[in-house]
This record gives sequence, structure tokens and C-alpha cells, in this order.
Amino acid sequence: MPIISDVREYLDELTEIRRDIHAHPEIGFTEERTGDLVAQKLKEYGCEVHRGLAKTGVVGTLRKGNSLRAIGLRADMDCLPMQEHNEFAHRSTQDGLMHACGHDGHTTMLLGAARYLSQTRNFEGTVHFIFQPGEEGYGGGRVMVQEGLFEKFPCDAVFAMHNKPGIPIGSMAIRPGPMLAASDRFDIRIKAKGGHAAHPHLGTDPFVIGAQIVMALQTITARNIDPVDSTVISIGFMKGGSAYNVIPDDLHIGGTVRSFRPETRDLLEQRMTEITAGTAALFGASATCDYRRGYPPTINHADEATFAADVAAEICGEEQIDRNVAPSLGGEDFSYMLQRVPGAMMWIGNGPGEGGCLLHNSRYDFNDSALPVGVSFFARLAERFLAPQE
Ligand SMILES: [Zn+2]
Ligand SMILES: [Zn+2]
Repeated sequence: MPIISDVREYLDELTEIRRDIHAHPEIGFTEERTGDLVAQKLKEYGCEVHRGLAKTGVVGTLRKGNSLRAIGLRADMDCLPMQEHNEFAHRSTQDGLMHACGHDGHTTMLLGAARYLSQTRNFEGTVHFIFQPGEEGYGGGRVMVQEGLFEKFPCDAVFAMHNKPGIPIGSMAIRPGPMLAASDRFDIRIKAKGGHAAHPHLGTDPFVIGAQIVMALQTITARNIDPVDSTVISIGFMKGGSAYNVIPDDLHIGGTVRSFRPETRDLLEQRMTEITAGTAALFGASATCDYRRGYPPTINHADEATFAADVAAEICGEEQIDRNVAPSLGGEDFSYMLQRVPGAMMWIGNGPGEGGCLLHNSRYDFNDSALPVGVSFFARLAERFLAPQE
């Protein structure tokens, strides 16, 4: 596979960096050690380094020539709040924290591209290497944009990639338009009238009402939304009660909602609110649904998605590129960057997802064999986007 041959020379160092980050995971907005490592490497490679956007964000900049064109390449640095169950030497040293989404790989691949581009400087214009904190629910990408990322570092286009188990090493996938879903959260609070569990007729039971609400919510995706328009409503928890023989007064249900289209998102919020209140009223109780919008959908811009696929094909071969992959119901805060600047996000194959090795699994590990592919992809994106004008 024609990955950039120079990259092979420092693959050992990159693997070491990747495993070091894996062993020292940091949760959203606390990426101090990771940020230090990134800043130190960027300086070593000869980049200008800016720190402090969204607390722990780091931006490295390389300039060459007088061209005003600029490209942004983005990686995320944070881990997940979960216990790692791997036993290899580079497993997490932090209890309850783990790089289970491969962001250690993203950060390393972008550092590798910074190293290559600073050595070769085969471009005209500016490359901004954007290392963002807190992708996993903290909206670090949103905060960077709000704090002036693209005013301080103007970009004509911005690109990112995410590792994906189930896609072979050396393959990549993308699609124009919706790539990942909008990701929202909800809290349903049922207020009923509890009492002795042996005398349920003297009150209203929040569990029976909650069970009805959970089932009724699924009719929104099945009966209110166009079947070809993908949506998900998933319950993440139901909390209530404390004794075998007591019916409690209240029940708290929470979960996530995923969608792609703005009008569908509006309909989901409206129907969830109606069904919650209506079902509770039907059984003589009351309930509210607090629907909170999270990340918007990640929408790839058509021209930039084609450009990214062309660059990926140059590295991996056209037959290894899926240019029309199915959208994922996962969410991404790279979406906030794509709302401001044209660009695209690409999947990079992490190899087979067998043996529980899926994203957010306690045995997940970024596959170091993907490093040369990702470094080459980021580097060539910059070289092709900023190709010297004849
Ligand atoms: Zn994740
Ligand atoms: Zn992720």
C-alpha cells in the first residue's frame, strides 16, 4: 500500500507515543499531560504552538510561502470514564479511565503528520493541527469554536478521521452528507403516589406508568418517523424505589436520542414530551420530559468528502475506499467545526472488531498498524489541499 515511505522511519516512535497516551488517559478538559506531550512534540517539529482554547486544547501551525490558503486537521485527545480490562503493558495506569475510543490513535496520527509536514514542507500555505479536548460528551469541539478557533486560525477546510473496528486496516470509508447523527439526552420524571406494595389501589404506581412510557416511546420511531429516516430512542437508566414492599412516589428515566434531520429532531422532542405527559395523565399521575439537545449531526460537505476520498484512494487504493458508507447513529462534536467551515470526517479501518474489540468496549485498543495509513492520509490532505500553484 503506497503510504508515505518517510513515515516508516519514525513508526517506532509514533507507536511509543500512542501507547504512552493510551497508558495515561485523561477525561474531557483535564488533558494536561496529553496536551503537554502534544505541545512539546509540535515545538520539537518546528510548529508554532498555541494553548488554552477550551482549557486544554492545543493548536500547532506550520506556514510556508505567501499563499493565504489554510487547512485544519483535527484530532481529539480525551478518554472515557470506564475501567480497562486489557492486560498488555500499555494498559491504562488510571483507575476508571480508559482510551476505549481510539483518541490516543487520532492524536498520534496528527502528530505524525505534523512531523512529516514540518520536515518536508511540500506545500504552499498554512496547516493548523487542531488537538481538541473533551469529545466524549463534553463538547470540546464546540467550546474551541466558541472561543474563536476559526477566527484565530482561519481555515478554508477542516478534516478529521475516526478509527473504526470492522473496517480492515488499509481501508477507509466516507460519505457526502450525514455521516454521524445528532445526539440528544432526556430525563423523564414521573410523579405518582406511592404507598404499601400490598395495597397498590390506594395510590398510583410510577413503575407501571414508566413501563408504559418506555414502550410508547418506541412507537415514535416505529410509527411517527418515516421508516427510511433512521432514528434511535434508547433508555440508559431507570431509577426509583428502595424496598421490596414499597411503591415509591417517583421514577426517573434517562436516555439518548439520535437523528439526522432537523425536522425529525423537532418531531422526536415534541412526541416524547406529549407521550410522557399523556401516558402519566392516563394513569392519574404526572410526568415531564426534559429534552436536551447535544451534538448536531455531522454533515460532510460534498466537495470536501470527494476530495478526502480521492486522497484516501491515493494512499490505500481505490478498491479500499468506500465512498458511500452507511451513516452511523453515533455522535461527534466535530459537527460544530463542520457547521462553521467546509470539511469532512472519514472512517479509518482499525481491523476486525471480533473478540469484543469494538469502540467503547473495556478491551478496545487502537490498532498501531493503522498509524502509517492515518499519518499518510492527514499529510497528503495538507499537501494536496495546499499544492503549490504553478
Ligand atoms: Zn467515543
Ligand atoms: Zn471517539
